[in-house]
Amino acid sequence: MRKTWEVIVIGCGGIGSAAAYWLARRAGSDVLAIEQFQLGHDRGSSQDHSRIIRRSYHNPDYIALTEPAYQTWAEVEAESGVPIVVKSGGLDLELIGTTGVKDLSHCAAAMAANDIPYEQLDAQELMYRWPQFQLTDAVRGLYQADGGLVDARKANAVHVALARSHGATVREGLAVRSIQSAGDAVEVVTDDGVFSAGHVVLAAGAWTGNLLADLGLDWRLTVTQEQVTYFATPHLREFTPERFPIWIWRDQEEFYGFPIYGEVATKAGQDVGGQETTAESRTFEVDVLARDRLVRFLEERIPRFLGPELYTKTCLYTMPPDRHFVLDTAPGHPRVTVAADAGHAFKFATLFGKVLSQLALDGETEYPIAPFTADRPALTDPTFEPIFRNEAVLQRG
Ligand SMILES: Cc1cc2nc3c(=O)[nH]c(=O)nc-3n(C[C@H](O)[C@H](O)[C@H](O)COP(=O)(O)OP(=O)(O)OC[C@H]3O[C@@H](n4cnc5c(N)ncnc54)[C@H](O)[C@@H]3O)c2cc1C
Repeated sequence: MRKTWEVIVIGCGGIGSAAAYWLARRAGSDVLAIEQFQLGHDRGSSQDHSRIIRRSYHNPDYIALTEPAYQTWAEVEAESGVPIVVKSGGLDLELIGTTGVKDLSHCAAAMAANDIPYEQLDAQELMYRWPQFQLTDAVRGLYQADGGLVDARKANAVHVALARSHGATVREGLAVRSIQSAGDAVEVVTDDGVFSAGHVVLAAGAWTGNLLADLGLDWRLTVTQEQVTYFATPHLREFTPERFPIWIWRDQEEFYGFPIYGEVATKAGQDVGGQETTAESRTFEVDVLARDRLVRFLEERIPRFLGPELYTKTCLYTMPPDRHFVLDTAPGHPRVTVAADAGHAFKFATLFGKVLSQLALDGETEYPIAPFTADRPALTDPTFEPIFRNEAVLQRG
């Protein structure tokens, strides 16, 4: 097999497959993408029917990425002819009086400042529009019509197919063992020999830390094992995407859920509800306590969402200490560009693929990614305390 490439992408999950596609649009057959397992495997972060996409952010840095995210998904849909984004509408819910940077007032203010339409609703208005919810007057909500889901499995497969159609080579079942900067190239060591690339895009999810170590970097990425549960609700008509939105419950314990999609079942999970692990030591075992917490929440707030458990699926988050993305060149290695997804990046996967392609081919990008550099204190200061820790989960052990 050819050993020299213009760009090699390591990892074909959500972000790597997107990078392969956007790179192939410009560099065609000079792009090689390498995946250690079979394409579509479920050992990483990207393989499920749905991931939330939304414009409701409290942080302008993220709001600035939402419009390009929707635009780039639309471009991929247009080129492939495959629908990927389903707009069910999106609801953010919280208890009135919640304070902190993430409360809904900050969200509303950030959205208003960016001309993003939204509606603020009290509990009665919420239950009038969506009687599936059972809320006390202590709850309020923010609705945005563009909220919905990205079909993650389809998106990955579409990215790979389009990358190939533009001439890229995609190798599955081939692990990259190490990478080394070598003058004006990067050496990529695999079980099938050493490949040389003018540029490497590292999109290795929970395995990123292993390859960063080859470059002498430690970003103290924390990997947690998370899970979502599909419930075979008997109340199908009430939970179709036309009638029921994606929702996020913003409290100390944050839950989220989806209408029926992909399975004949609703789906919900808890954000950072799982325990720390590594890509190698993770199990696929269901965390029964976490699932029970979720069921208790749903019994109280959306009882008809529930039904027999169809299955619970585990998955990995990979988080820098500040839980913000990294999209940058690896310090000291100008030919290696890295993405770290922070456990909430699927909605941006194709945009990030485009950003990575521009960083690799042009050394710069048209998109506002300055907050996600690799030289920020969260990554360089060993005393920086992780902010994502869910104290309630940690205390339970
Ligand atoms: C339960 C759960 C719910 C989520 N919900 C949402 C949501 O609602 N909205 C949202 O936006 N995001 C969500 N996310 C986050 C989102 O899914 C991730 O941010 C995204 O999937 C990360 O993609 P990735 O490509 O970085 O990682 P991955 O999909 O894990 O891809 C990395 C790939 O690199 C490969 N690889 C690693 N090392 C090597 C090597 N040495 N050689 C070759 N290949 C290698 C791996 O095998 C893997 O395929 C959720 C995540 C989880 C776990």
